[in-house]
Amino acid sequence: MDKKKNESKHKRVQLARLGSQLLFIALLAGGIYMNLRMVLLILLPASLLFGNFFCGWVCPYGTLQELTGTIGRKLFKKRWKMPRAIQKYLQYLRYFLFVILIIGIADTLLTPVNAYGTFMGQFMNQSGRAASVLSLWIMGSFLLISVFFERPFCNYLCTEAAKYGVLSMTRLFSVKRNEDSCISCRKCDKACPMNIEVSACDQVRNGQCINCMKCIHVCPVDDTLGFGKVKWPVGKNRKNKGA
Ligand code: SF4
Ligand code: SF4
Repeated sequence: MDKKKNESKHKRVQLARLGSQLLFIALLAGGIYMNLRMVLLILLPASLLFGNFFCGWVCPYGTLQELTGTIGRKLFKKRWKMPRAIQKYLQYLRYFLFVILIIGIADTLLTPVNAYGTFMGQFMNQSGRAASVLSLWIMGSFLLISVFFERPFCNYLCTEAAKYGVLSMTRLFSVKRNEDSCISCRKCDKACPMNIEVSACDQVRNGQCINCMKCIHVCPVDDTLGFGKVKWPVGKNRKNKGA
C-alpha cells in the first residue's frame, strides 16, 4: 500500500477511536452509559480474540486521562515514562488489586483505590449513592498525574482494565511488527500510552495493550507495524510481551 493511503488509513482509525471515545463521554454525561453496561459486556469475551477494546475506545475515565495527557504534551512538549525496570513489576499491581477484589475483601481495602467504580457510580447511575469525596479526590489526582505520565490509573490501578488484560492474553489478533523493515527508531515505544516496548516485540501479546493503535499510527516505515493474526504457538523465541 502506498504511503499516503497508509497514512490516511491510520488517521481514519484514530478518528474512529476519538469518535467512539466522545460518544461514550456523551452517553455518560447523558446518564445512559450505565444502561449499556450489559451490551458492553460483549467486549469481554471479544478480548479473548481481539484484545482489550474497552480502555482505549470506550472507557470515559480512560478518555479523560488521555485528554489531560494531550494537554500535558502540548504544554511541556514531553512525556515522562515509567523506567522499564519499575514498569516490569508495577504493571502487575492492577492484577493484584483485581485478585483482592474478587476474593471479596475489596470493600475494606479497595474503596479508595477502586475509585473508578465509585466515580462511575456517581456519574452513570445518578440515582445511586454519591461517590465519596476521597474517591473523587483520587480520580482528580490521577487526572492531574496524567498530565505528566500517560494513563497512570489504567496502567497500575484499574481493576476493570486488569479483567480485560487477563482475557486478552489469549488474543488471536494483535499488533505485529515486521522485524526486517523496522529501523529501530522506537517511535512506537514513545507513543505507547501503556509503556509497552513495541520495538522489542514481533507480536504484542502484553495484557497492558489497549488497542489504541497509536504505535501503528506513528511508525514511519510503511507496513512495519500492523494489526493482524498472531502466530501460534507462542514459542520461546518469539518476542511477545514488550515489558
Ligand atoms: S516505530 Fe516502526 S520502525 Fe520505529 S521501532 Fe517501532 S516498529 Fe520499528
Ligand atoms: S502496543 Fe500499540 S496498540 Fe497496544 S497500547 Fe501500545 S500503542 Fe496502543
